[in-house]
Amino acid sequence: MAGLYIHIPYCKKACFYCNFHFTVNRKGQPELLQAILEEARRQRDTAVWNEATFSSLYLGGGTPSVIEPALLADFLYELRTVFPLEADAEFTLEANPDDVNPTAAATWLEAGVNRISLGLQSLNDEELRWMNRSHNAKEALDSLDTLLQAGFPSVNADLIYGGPLRSDASWLHDLDYIFNSGVDHLSAYALTLEERTPYEKLVHTGRYEAPEEQHQARQFEMLSDRAEAAGWDHYEISNLAKPGQRARHNSAYWKNHPYLGLGPSAHSYDGKYRSWNPADNALYVRAVTEGMDREGELLGPKERYNEWLMTHLRMLEGLDLKWARQHWPEFVAGLEQELLKLEARGWVQHKGPRFSLSRNGRLYADAIAAGLMQVGED
Ligand code: SF4
Repeated sequence: MAGLYIHIPYCKKACFYCNFHFTVNRKGQPELLQAILEEARRQRDTAVWNEATFSSLYLGGGTPSVIEPALLADFLYELRTVFPLEADAEFTLEANPDDVNPTAAATWLEAGVNRISLGLQSLNDEELRWMNRSHNAKEALDSLDTLLQAGFPSVNADLIYGGPLRSDASWLHDLDYIFNSGVDHLSAYALTLEERTPYEKLVHTGRYEAPEEQHQARQFEMLSDRAEAAGWDHYEISNLAKPGQRARHNSAYWKNHPYLGLGPSAHSYDGKYRSWNPADNALYVRAVTEGMDREGELLGPKERYNEWLMTHLRMLEGLDLKWARQHWPEFVAGLEQELLKLEARGWVQHKGPRFSLSRNGRLYADAIAAGLMQVGED
Protein backbone atom coordinates (compact mmCIF):
# COMPACT_ATOMS: atom_id res chain seq x y z
CA MET A 1 0.00 0.00 0.00
CA ALA A 2 1.64 3.21 -1.15
CA GLY A 3 0.70 6.64 -2.46
CA LEU A 4 1.65 8.21 -5.79
CA TYR A 5 2.08 11.99 -5.99
CA ILE A 6 2.51 14.02 -9.20
CA HIS A 7 3.71 17.63 -9.04
CA ILE A 8 2.32 19.88 -11.79
CA PRO A 9 4.30 23.12 -11.43
CA TYR A 10 2.13 25.69 -13.27
CA CYS A 11 -0.09 28.46 -11.93
CA LYS A 12 -1.93 31.41 -13.49
CA LYS A 13 -0.82 33.88 -10.82
CA ALA A 14 1.61 33.85 -7.91
CA CYS A 15 -0.37 33.92 -4.68
CA PHE A 16 1.58 36.22 -2.36
CA TYR A 17 1.94 33.75 0.52
CA CYS A 18 2.95 30.69 -1.53
CA ASN A 19 6.35 29.01 -1.28
CA PHE A 20 5.59 25.89 -3.33
CA HIS A 21 7.49 25.22 -6.52
CA PHE A 22 5.56 26.65 -9.49
CA THR A 23 5.94 28.96 -12.45
CA VAL A 24 3.45 31.33 -14.09
CA ASN A 25 5.16 30.69 -17.44
CA ARG A 26 2.92 27.97 -18.77
CA LYS A 27 5.02 27.06 -21.82
CA GLY A 28 6.51 23.58 -22.18
CA GLN A 29 3.68 21.64 -20.52
CA PRO A 30 3.63 18.68 -22.99
CA GLU A 31 7.40 18.24 -22.63
CA LEU A 32 7.22 18.33 -18.86
CA LEU A 33 4.37 15.80 -18.78
CA GLN A 34 6.44 13.51 -21.03
CA ALA A 35 9.38 13.84 -18.64
CA ILE A 36 7.11 12.82 -15.73
CA LEU A 37 6.01 9.74 -17.69
CA GLU A 38 9.63 8.91 -18.44
CA GLU A 39 10.47 9.24 -14.76
CA ALA A 40 7.51 6.98 -13.90
CA ARG A 41 8.83 4.26 -16.24
CA ARG A 42 12.31 4.53 -14.72
CA GLN A 43 10.96 4.30 -11.18
CA ARG A 44 8.80 1.32 -12.10
CA ASP A 45 11.99 -0.49 -13.15
CA THR A 46 13.61 -0.01 -9.72
CA ALA A 47 13.48 -2.71 -7.04
CA VAL A 48 11.60 -0.40 -4.65
CA TRP A 49 8.65 0.47 -6.88
CA ASN A 50 8.56 -2.47 -9.28
CA GLU A 51 6.06 -4.44 -7.22
CA ALA A 52 4.30 -1.49 -5.59
CA THR A 53 0.56 -1.13 -5.76
CA PHE A 54 -0.87 2.35 -5.26
CA SER A 55 -3.95 2.94 -3.19
CA SER A 56 -3.98 6.68 -3.89
CA LEU A 57 -2.93 9.08 -6.62
CA TYR A 58 -2.68 12.78 -5.88
CA LEU A 59 -2.11 15.47 -8.53
CA GLY A 60 -0.90 18.58 -6.76
CA GLY A 61 1.30 21.54 -7.49
CA GLY A 62 1.15 24.23 -8.63
CA THR A 63 -2.29 23.93 -10.15
CA PRO A 64 -2.96 20.71 -12.09
CA SER A 65 -6.28 22.11 -13.33
CA VAL A 66 -4.49 24.70 -15.51
CA ILE A 67 -3.45 21.87 -17.85
CA GLU A 68 -5.86 21.66 -20.76
CA PRO A 69 -8.26 18.83 -19.75
CA ALA A 70 -7.72 16.65 -22.87
CA LEU A 71 -3.92 16.87 -22.49
CA LEU A 72 -4.22 15.99 -18.82
CA ALA A 73 -6.52 13.05 -19.59
CA ASP A 74 -3.99 11.63 -22.10
CA PHE A 75 -1.23 12.01 -19.54
CA LEU A 76 -3.28 10.24 -16.86
CA TYR A 77 -4.12 7.39 -19.20
CA GLU A 78 -0.39 6.83 -19.91
CA LEU A 79 0.53 7.18 -16.26
CA ARG A 80 -1.96 4.53 -15.24
CA THR A 81 -0.56 2.08 -17.79
CA VAL A 82 2.81 2.49 -16.02
CA PHE A 83 1.40 2.41 -12.48
CA PRO A 84 -2.08 0.86 -12.36
CA LEU A 85 -4.08 1.94 -9.33
CA GLU A 86 -5.86 -0.38 -6.93
CA ALA A 87 -9.54 -0.83 -7.81
CA ASP A 88 -10.86 1.42 -5.03
CA ALA A 89 -7.96 3.90 -5.09
CA GLU A 90 -8.53 7.52 -4.06
CA PHE A 91 -7.62 9.76 -7.01
CA THR A 92 -7.40 13.46 -6.17
CA LEU A 93 -6.91 16.43 -8.48
CA GLU A 94 -6.15 19.88 -7.08
CA ALA A 95 -8.18 22.51 -8.93
CA ASN A 96 -8.58 26.25 -8.76
CA PRO A 97 -12.07 27.73 -9.09
CA ASP A 98 -11.35 29.67 -12.30
CA ASP A 99 -10.41 26.43 -14.12
CA VAL A 100 -13.62 24.61 -13.20
CA ASN A 101 -16.39 24.32 -15.79
CA PRO A 102 -18.77 21.49 -16.70
CA THR A 103 -16.62 20.27 -19.63
CA ALA A 104 -13.41 20.14 -17.59
CA ALA A 105 -15.24 18.42 -14.73
CA ALA A 106 -16.63 15.75 -17.07
CA THR A 107 -13.18 15.12 -18.58
CA TRP A 108 -11.58 14.76 -15.14
CA LEU A 109 -14.30 12.33 -14.04
CA GLU A 110 -13.86 10.29 -17.20
CA ALA A 111 -10.11 10.16 -16.58
CA GLY A 112 -10.82 8.47 -13.23
CA VAL A 113 -10.55 11.42 -10.83
CA ASN A 114 -12.86 10.69 -7.89
CA ARG A 115 -11.86 13.50 -5.53
CA ILE A 116 -11.30 17.23 -6.17
CA SER A 117 -9.39 19.44 -3.81
CA LEU A 118 -10.63 22.95 -4.56
CA GLY A 119 -8.41 25.91 -3.68
CA LEU A 120 -11.09 28.35 -2.49
CA GLN A 121 -9.02 29.95 0.34
CA SER A 122 -11.74 32.53 0.98
CA LEU A 123 -15.22 33.48 -0.20
CA ASN A 124 -14.50 37.18 0.20
CA ASP A 125 -13.34 39.29 -2.77
CA GLU A 126 -11.23 41.68 -0.74
CA GLU A 127 -9.28 38.83 0.90
CA LEU A 128 -8.84 37.01 -2.41
CA ARG A 129 -7.40 40.15 -4.00
CA TRP A 130 -5.15 40.68 -0.98
CA MET A 131 -3.76 37.15 -1.47
CA ASN A 132 -3.38 37.74 -5.25
CA ARG A 133 -5.55 34.72 -6.03
CA SER A 134 -6.61 34.24 -9.65
CA HIS A 135 -10.33 33.86 -8.83
CA ASN A 136 -13.06 35.91 -7.17
CA ALA A 137 -15.78 34.91 -4.71
CA LYS A 138 -18.42 34.34 -7.38
CA GLU A 139 -16.13 31.99 -9.27
CA ALA A 140 -15.42 30.17 -6.00
CA LEU A 141 -19.14 29.55 -5.35
CA ASP A 142 -19.90 28.65 -8.98
CA SER A 143 -17.01 26.17 -9.12
CA LEU A 144 -18.22 24.43 -5.99
CA ASP A 145 -21.71 24.04 -7.47
CA THR A 146 -20.31 22.76 -10.76
CA LEU A 147 -18.20 20.09 -9.04
CA LEU A 148 -21.00 18.94 -6.79
CA GLN A 149 -23.44 18.78 -9.69
CA ALA A 150 -20.90 16.90 -11.83
CA GLY A 151 -21.04 14.09 -9.25
CA PHE A 152 -17.52 13.82 -7.82
CA PRO A 153 -17.73 11.30 -4.98
CA SER A 154 -15.61 13.55 -2.76
CA VAL A 155 -14.82 17.28 -2.77
CA ASN A 156 -12.36 19.01 -0.45
CA ALA A 157 -12.36 22.77 0.11
CA ASP A 158 -9.14 24.56 1.05
CA LEU A 159 -9.57 27.66 3.23
CA ILE A 160 -7.06 30.03 4.83
CA TYR A 161 -7.70 31.78 8.12
CA GLY A 162 -5.86 34.12 10.44
CA GLY A 163 -4.65 36.65 7.87
CA PRO A 164 -4.78 40.35 8.83
CA LEU A 165 -7.78 40.95 6.57
CA ARG A 166 -9.67 37.86 7.71
CA SER A 167 -12.30 39.14 10.11
CA ASP A 168 -14.01 36.75 12.53
CA ALA A 169 -17.28 37.41 10.70
CA SER A 170 -15.82 36.48 7.32
CA TRP A 171 -14.25 33.33 8.78
CA LEU A 172 -17.51 32.21 10.37
CA HIS A 173 -19.37 32.99 7.15
CA ASP A 174 -17.03 30.78 5.11
CA LEU A 175 -17.09 27.94 7.66
CA ASP A 176 -20.89 27.94 7.79
CA TYR A 177 -21.07 28.00 4.03
CA ILE A 178 -18.65 25.08 3.63
CA PHE A 179 -20.15 22.91 6.38
CA ASN A 180 -23.54 23.23 4.67
CA SER A 181 -22.41 23.08 1.05
CA GLY A 182 -22.21 19.36 0.35
CA VAL A 183 -18.40 19.08 0.40
CA ASP A 184 -17.15 16.25 2.61
CA HIS A 185 -13.68 17.48 3.55
CA LEU A 186 -12.09 20.77 4.62
CA SER A 187 -8.41 21.67 4.78
CA ALA A 188 -8.08 24.84 6.87
CA TYR A 189 -4.65 26.43 7.11
CA ALA A 190 -3.46 29.32 9.20
CA LEU A 191 -1.79 31.92 6.97
CA THR A 192 1.97 31.72 7.46
CA LEU A 193 4.67 34.18 6.57
CA GLU A 194 7.10 32.08 4.51
CA GLU A 195 10.59 33.11 3.53
CA ARG A 196 11.29 34.24 -0.02
CA THR A 197 7.64 34.95 -0.83
CA PRO A 198 6.09 38.21 -2.06
CA TYR A 199 4.22 38.33 1.27
CA GLU A 200 7.50 38.40 3.17
CA LYS A 201 8.69 41.36 1.05
CA LEU A 202 5.38 43.17 1.48
CA VAL A 203 5.60 42.81 5.25
CA HIS A 204 9.25 43.78 5.25
CA THR A 205 8.48 46.99 3.36
CA GLY A 206 5.51 47.78 5.62
CA ARG A 207 2.82 47.42 2.95
CA TYR A 208 1.22 44.30 4.47
CA GLU A 209 0.77 43.22 8.06
CA ALA A 210 2.14 39.92 9.36
CA PRO A 211 -0.29 37.34 10.80
CA GLU A 212 -1.00 37.80 14.48
CA GLU A 213 -0.88 34.83 16.88
CA GLN A 214 -3.92 35.64 19.06
CA HIS A 215 -6.07 36.36 16.01
CA GLN A 216 -5.10 32.98 14.52
CA ALA A 217 -5.68 31.12 17.80
CA ARG A 218 -9.16 32.62 18.11
CA GLN A 219 -10.07 31.65 14.56
CA PHE A 220 -8.70 28.14 15.14
CA GLU A 221 -11.06 27.88 18.14
CA MET A 222 -13.93 28.96 15.88
CA LEU A 223 -12.96 26.23 13.44
CA SER A 224 -12.99 23.59 16.21
CA ASP A 225 -16.35 24.83 17.55
CA ARG A 226 -18.05 24.90 14.16
CA ALA A 227 -16.66 21.47 13.23
CA GLU A 228 -17.93 20.00 16.49
CA ALA A 229 -21.36 21.54 16.00
CA ALA A 230 -21.52 20.20 12.44
CA GLY A 231 -20.51 16.70 13.60
CA TRP A 232 -17.33 16.71 11.51
CA ASP A 233 -14.23 14.75 12.42
CA HIS A 234 -11.35 17.20 13.14
CA TYR A 235 -8.87 14.37 12.54
CA GLU A 236 -5.72 16.39 11.92
CA ILE A 237 -4.93 19.92 13.01
CA SER A 238 -5.58 21.36 9.56
CA ASN A 239 -7.95 18.71 8.23
CA LEU A 240 -11.60 17.95 8.90
CA ALA A 241 -13.98 15.49 7.31
CA LYS A 242 -17.49 14.23 7.46
CA PRO A 243 -17.42 10.92 9.34
CA GLY A 244 -15.78 8.24 7.18
CA GLN A 245 -14.44 10.75 4.63
CA ARG A 246 -10.86 11.27 5.78
CA ALA A 247 -8.39 11.86 2.94
CA ARG A 248 -6.53 8.63 2.35
CA HIS A 249 -3.53 10.02 0.48
CA ASN A 250 -2.62 12.62 3.07
CA SER A 251 -3.40 10.28 5.96
CA ALA A 252 -0.83 7.88 4.51
CA TYR A 253 1.83 10.66 4.65
CA TRP A 254 0.96 11.36 8.28
CA LYS A 255 1.23 7.66 9.11
CA ASN A 256 4.67 7.48 7.46
CA HIS A 257 3.56 5.07 4.73
CA PRO A 258 5.75 4.94 1.62
CA TYR A 259 5.03 7.25 -1.30
CA LEU A 260 6.50 7.92 -4.71
CA GLY A 261 6.60 11.54 -5.90
CA LEU A 262 7.15 12.39 -9.56
CA GLY A 263 7.77 15.76 -11.20
CA PRO A 264 9.87 18.79 -10.28
CA SER A 265 10.42 19.23 -6.53
CA ALA A 266 8.49 16.02 -5.70
CA HIS A 267 9.71 13.96 -2.74
CA SER A 268 9.59 10.19 -2.30
CA TYR A 269 9.94 8.03 0.78
CA ASP A 270 10.24 4.25 0.92
CA GLY A 271 10.16 3.82 4.69
CA LYS A 272 13.85 4.61 5.25
CA TYR A 273 15.19 6.56 2.31
CA ARG A 274 13.91 9.99 1.25
CA SER A 275 14.74 11.42 -2.20
CA TRP A 276 13.68 14.45 -4.18
CA ASN A 277 13.78 16.05 -7.62
CA PRO A 278 15.17 19.48 -8.48
CA ALA A 279 12.71 22.32 -7.84
CA ASP A 280 13.35 23.74 -11.31
CA ASN A 281 11.44 22.64 -14.42
CA ALA A 282 14.34 22.83 -16.90
CA LEU A 283 16.74 21.08 -14.52
CA TYR A 284 14.15 18.42 -13.82
CA VAL A 285 13.57 17.66 -17.53
CA ARG A 286 17.34 17.52 -18.06
CA ALA A 287 17.82 15.22 -15.06
CA VAL A 288 15.21 12.81 -16.39
CA THR A 289 16.50 12.97 -19.98
CA GLU A 290 20.07 12.32 -18.89
CA GLY A 291 19.03 9.60 -16.43
CA MET A 292 20.54 11.38 -13.42
CA ASP A 293 19.94 9.94 -9.94
CA ARG A 294 17.71 11.84 -7.54
CA GLU A 295 19.25 13.48 -4.52
CA GLY A 296 18.41 11.72 -1.29
CA GLU A 297 19.23 10.78 2.28
CA LEU A 298 18.91 7.71 4.45
CA LEU A 299 16.87 8.60 7.53
CA GLY A 300 18.39 7.46 10.80
CA PRO A 301 16.29 6.16 13.72
CA LYS A 302 16.11 9.59 15.39
CA GLU A 303 14.86 11.28 12.25
CA ARG A 304 12.22 8.60 11.70
CA TYR A 305 11.19 8.80 15.35
CA ASN A 306 10.91 12.60 15.16
CA GLU A 307 8.77 12.40 12.03
CA TRP A 308 6.48 9.86 13.72
CA LEU A 309 6.21 12.16 16.73
CA MET A 310 5.49 15.29 14.73
CA THR A 311 2.92 13.80 12.35
CA HIS A 312 1.07 11.63 14.89
CA LEU A 313 0.85 14.39 17.46
CA ARG A 314 -1.07 16.46 14.90
CA MET A 315 -3.64 13.70 14.51
CA LEU A 316 -6.75 13.14 16.61
CA GLU A 317 -5.58 9.65 17.63
CA GLY A 318 -2.22 11.01 18.80
CA LEU A 319 0.74 8.91 19.90
CA ASP A 320 0.32 5.22 20.68
CA LEU A 321 2.99 4.52 23.30
CA LYS A 322 2.37 0.77 23.19
CA TRP A 323 3.28 0.76 19.51
CA ALA A 324 6.15 3.17 20.13
CA ARG A 325 7.65 0.93 22.84
CA GLN A 326 7.95 -1.86 20.30
CA HIS A 327 9.41 0.33 17.54
CA TRP A 328 11.41 3.00 19.42
CA PRO A 329 12.32 1.44 22.79
CA GLU A 330 15.47 3.57 22.98
CA PHE A 331 13.53 6.86 22.79
CA VAL A 332 10.25 6.18 24.56
CA ALA A 333 11.62 5.84 28.10
CA GLY A 334 11.41 9.59 28.84
CA LEU A 335 8.53 10.38 26.49
CA GLU A 336 5.73 9.25 28.78
CA GLN A 337 7.04 11.40 31.66
CA GLU A 338 7.20 14.44 29.40
CA LEU A 339 3.68 13.78 28.11
CA LEU A 340 2.34 13.48 31.66
CA LYS A 341 3.90 16.86 32.49
CA LEU A 342 2.17 18.35 29.44
CA GLU A 343 -1.08 16.74 30.56
CA ALA A 344 -0.77 18.47 33.92
CA ARG A 345 -0.59 21.80 32.03
CA GLY A 346 -3.72 20.92 30.08
CA TRP A 347 -2.05 20.53 26.69
CA VAL A 348 -2.23 16.77 26.39
CA GLN A 349 -4.80 14.13 27.32
CA HIS A 350 -4.53 10.36 27.39
CA LYS A 351 -6.66 7.27 27.20
CA GLY A 352 -4.73 4.09 27.92
CA PRO A 353 -1.46 4.17 25.99
CA ARG A 354 -2.68 6.86 23.56
CA PHE A 355 -1.66 10.46 24.17
CA SER A 356 -3.15 13.23 22.08
CA LEU A 357 -3.19 17.02 22.13
CA SER A 358 -6.05 18.69 23.97
CA ARG A 359 -7.89 21.48 22.18
CA ASN A 360 -5.66 23.99 23.93
CA GLY A 361 -2.54 21.94 23.09
CA ARG A 362 -3.47 21.96 19.41
CA LEU A 363 -2.73 25.69 19.37
CA TYR A 364 0.91 24.93 20.25
CA ALA A 365 1.36 21.67 18.33
CA ASP A 366 4.62 22.59 16.63
CA ALA A 367 6.27 23.89 19.79
CA ILE A 368 5.11 20.85 21.80
CA ALA A 369 6.43 18.44 19.15
CA ALA A 370 9.74 20.33 19.01
CA GLY A 371 10.10 20.01 22.78
CA LEU A 372 9.60 16.23 22.64
CA MET A 373 11.95 15.49 19.76
CA GLN A 374 15.25 13.68 19.96
CA VAL A 375 18.12 16.03 19.21
CA GLY A 376 21.60 15.40 17.86
CA GLU A 377 23.02 13.21 15.11
CA ASP A 378 21.95 9.60 14.61
S1 SF4 B 1 -2.38 28.50 -6.93
FE1 SF4 B 1 -1.54 27.27 -5.22
S2 SF4 B 1 0.52 26.62 -5.89
FE2 SF4 B 1 -0.15 28.29 -7.26
S3 SF4 B 1 0.75 30.13 -6.37
FE3 SF4 B 1 -1.35 29.93 -5.55
S4 SF4 B 1 -1.11 28.78 -3.63
FE4 SF4 B 1 0.79 28.52 -4.78
